[in-house]
Amino acid sequence: MEQVILRNAETETLRRLKTLEDISYTCSNLFTSNLKEIGNQVLEYSARLTGADYGLLFFQDPSCMHILVAASYGLNCNFAETYNNKLRFKLGFEEQGEVRPSFRAMLSREIIILHEADKLNIGSGFFRKCTYPNKISSLISIPIIVNGKAVAAISQYFIKPHDFSEEEISFIKTTANIITSTIERNLLLEKAHRSNEELQLVNKELDSFVFIASHDLREPLRTIESFVRILEHKLNKKLDSEDNYYLKKLIYATQKERKLIEDLTLLSRATKDAVESEVVDLNIVLKEVKFELTAFIQEKNAEIILPERLPCVTGNKEKIASIFKNLLLNGIKFNKSEIPQVTIYMDNDANFDPDKICICFEDNGIGIKEEHFDKIFGLFQRLYSEDEYEGTGAGLAIVKKILEKYGCSVWLESKEGKGSRFFVTFNLHI
Ligand code: ADP
Repeated sequence: MEQVILRNAETETLRRLKTLEDISYTCSNLFTSNLKEIGNQVLEYSARLTGADYGLLFFQDPSCMHILVAASYGLNCNFAETYNNKLRFKLGFEEQGEVRPSFRAMLSREIIILHEADKLNIGSGFFRKCTYPNKISSLISIPIIVNGKAVAAISQYFIKPHDFSEEEISFIKTTANIITSTIERNLLLEKAHRSNEELQLVNKELDSFVFIASHDLREPLRTIESFVRILEHKLNKKLDSEDNYYLKKLIYATQKERKLIEDLTLLSRATKDAVESEVVDLNIVLKEVKFELTAFIQEKNAEIILPERLPCVTGNKEKIASIFKNLLLNGIKFNKSEIPQVTIYMDNDANFDPDKICICFEDNGIGIKEEHFDKIFGLFQRLYSEDEYEGTGAGLAIVKKILEKYGCSVWLESKEGKGSRFFVTFNLHI
């Protein structure tokens, strides 16, 4: 006999565990912090845990300073609507606490269990009317704490007297915890989503700011540059070494300013311009870029090894040229080898998308630590001072922005002191 009772208890526990699993599964698929939506999904399951006849989910609504019903179980389906329209209780419900166990649970942040509730005149008249002719004997109310605040309470009502076992209580507590984590997770997701939208807005504003600023700054800078040149020419012989030093600094500063403005314009155009697509012959672009860099290549005693033949891609020739130029320059610039070498080749192994081709720029330069792989694609992010290696730190940010606009990508493989391989993909022209 005893064994049969035990087995029944085990089956009951298993059934409850299964119900808890259902609650957990349902909540994991809910992507809202809205208690009404959560309550509508969860309340019936939670009643199954205990066999409750009625269930209510109360919540504090700070927007209207009232306590409202988010969802109900076992009651007329319009219960929440009618309650919220007619009976809503103001926040600061201390005086209501005695006769309203759900409010008390929120206030004390503790589980409230009551027996002989019918004799205590518990709940609103409306609730009693809805359950009529049944009367409530037992009830349990558990607070739901979100980010440290008791924002809601889940209550269960029983017509027959009900002794709450430890197991039942812990299962209802777990239900409340699942609701808490669902709300907290979704609040975070909603916040992340909002900040993403805000970020996009800020980026847009920044884009147009950069676009306008870069155009407006260029004109006065040109004037300064020409006047400095005239001064340099006129005063050439008359200046002492200190004056000369200041003049050289001035020239350098204007050049740097111009490069920065150019980079900002390029970056702004990379994100602003519509994606125009033309057929681009990469072989021609590479040859032209190499030719453009002839002086720099010779000055650095560098060697550029071009691929035999590359296919045609769709994109914008000028932008592809600026990508190639950046990667080639970097391969030569960040290089201490006697003969800096950049080899360009098509890498079919690194590419998994049949609509794209992957081009690799491999150098025998100083290499990059893996921890800096992300950083170098950020705007104005550099790993060395300008005294060591010249530059503004905008090149790779521009490369990445252009490629993203075309649904393409850039990444690298490198080890410090062992050279680098930069991979870029392009849309194959079919
Ligand atoms: P810049 O060349 O103006 O410094 P980039 O955005 O092109 O700016 O590059 C950012 C940083 O990434 C560089 O300052 C350098 O530290 C590192 N880097 C880029 N390319 C290479 C390379 N081929 N080898 C080693 N370091 C590189």
